[in-house]
Amino acid sequence: MKKVAIVGAGIVGATAAYYLSKEADIEVTVFDFGHGQATKAAAGIISPWFSKRRNKAWYKMARLGADFYVDLLADLEKSGQQVDFYQRSGVFLLKNDDSKLEELYQLALQRRDESPLIGELAILDQATASNLFPGLEGFERLLYASGGARVDGQLLVTRLLGASQVKVINKEVSLTPLSSGYQIDNQMFDQVILSTGAWLGHILEPLGYEVDVRPQKGQLRDYQVPQDMGAYPVVMPEGEWDLIPFPGGKLSLGATHENDMGFDLAVDENLLQQMAETASSFYPSLKDAIISGERVGIRAYTSDFSPFFGQVPNLSGVFVASGLGSSGLTTGPIIGYHLAQMLQGGSGVLDPADYPTERYIKEK
Ligand SMILES: Cc1cc2nc3c(=O)[nH]c(=O)nc-3n(C[C@H](O)[C@H](O)[C@H](O)COP(=O)(O)OP(=O)(O)OC[C@H]3O[C@@H](n4cnc5c(N)ncnc54)[C@H](O)[C@@H]3O)c2cc1C
Repeated sequence: MKKVAIVGAGIVGATAAYYLSKEADIEVTVFDFGHGQATKAAAGIISPWFSKRRNKAWYKMARLGADFYVDLLADLEKSGQQVDFYQRSGVFLLKNDDSKLEELYQLALQRRDESPLIGELAILDQATASNLFPGLEGFERLLYASGGARVDGQLLVTRLLGASQVKVINKEVSLTPLSSGYQIDNQMFDQVILSTGAWLGHILEPLGYEVDVRPQKGQLRDYQVPQDMGAYPVVMPEGEWDLIPFPGGKLSLGATHENDMGFDLAVDENLLQQMAETASSFYPSLKDAIISGERVGIRAYTSDFSPFFGQVPNLSGVFVASGLGSSGLTTGPIIGYHLAQMLQGGSGVLDPADYPTERYIKEK
C-alpha cells in the first residue's frame, strides 16, 4: 500500500484526495491547518470566458477547468454525494462603457465554439434583465451568459472530503525529507502533495527553496435576504465587487483584493461598507438586507499571476500546486485532478510544461 500525504485541504487538496481515494493501493492522509483558507472564504463565480488576459496557458486551464465541473459533478453523484455546491445560474456582465458590451459579446460568441458551456448569450436591456434579477438597476444594458455558474467553496470541499472518506488531521505541519520517503507529523509517506495555497513558502523555504508566491487578502460579506435568490444570476460589474446570490435567502458580496496586508485575517468593516455602498447603487435592496457574516481568505499569487503545478524541483515524489489567484475555484478542481494523475505516473488534458513549477520554486 502506497502512503500519500496531502498538505492543505482547500479546493486543490480536497479534489486530489477525492480522486486518489478511489485507488485501492493508495492510503491518503490529509493535513489541513485551515486558518485563512481561500476556498472556504470564496463564494465563487465560474465564468472565465470573458477574460481579456493574454496568457493562453491560463485561459486554456480556466476554460477546461469550467468544463471539468461537469465531470466532477457526475463523479461525486456516483459517489453518493449531493452536488448542491454548484449551480449554473447564469451571469450578468456590466461595463461602464456600454459600447464594450458588443465587443465582449463577439469574444464570447467566438469562444463558445470550444466552450459550449457558455450557453445562451444575449445583450439585455434593464427591463429584461430585471425579470431575471428583480430590483437590479443603475445600468442600461448588460451581457447575459446562461452557463455562468456559482460555487460554494466550503461546501464543495465538504462534499469532496465526505466522498473520499480520508483521514483529515487539522494541524499545521512541516515536511522532512528522509533517505527514502518523507516524514510529516511523525508519520512516513512515500509521496506528498503540497496544496498549501498562499502558505507554500512557509513549508518549502525551510528546505532551502525560494518560492515566488505572495499572499493577497480577500474579504467578502454574506447577507440574509427575504426572498430565495436561487434562480438569480451572478452580477459582475467592472471593478472589484460581485453580487453572488445563493438559494435559501443568501446573498454574498465580494471580494476585496488587498495586496499589502500579508496574511492578516482581520475583518475591515470600513472596506466592506465601501463595497456595500457601491453595490447598493445597483441593488438598493442590499441596504435592507441583514448582514449574516464576513469571511476573510488569503489567495496565492505569483509575480506573473500564473498558476503552476507539478513536481517540486529535486524533491522526488513531492508534487505541488499554487498561485491560483482569484480564479482558483475555476481552476482548482482540474489542477487537483491532474496532481492525482501525475502522482500515479499518469497525465491529463493539461500539459504541466505550460505551468512549470521551476519558474516559481528555486533552490537557494
Ligand atoms: C474572498 C475570495 C473570493 C474568491 N472568489 C473567487 C471566484 O469568484 N472565482 C474563482 O474562481 N476563485 C475565487 N477565489 C479564489 C479561490 O478561492 C482560490 O484561488 C482557491 O480557493 C485556492 O485554493 P487552494 O486549494 O490552492 O488554497 P486554499 O484554499 O487557501 O487551501 C490551502 C490550505 O492549506 C492549508 N495549509 C497551508 N500550509 C499548511 C501546513 N503547513 N500544514 C497544514 N495545512 C496547511 C491552509 O490552512 C489552507 O486550508 C476567491 C478567493 C477569495 C479569498
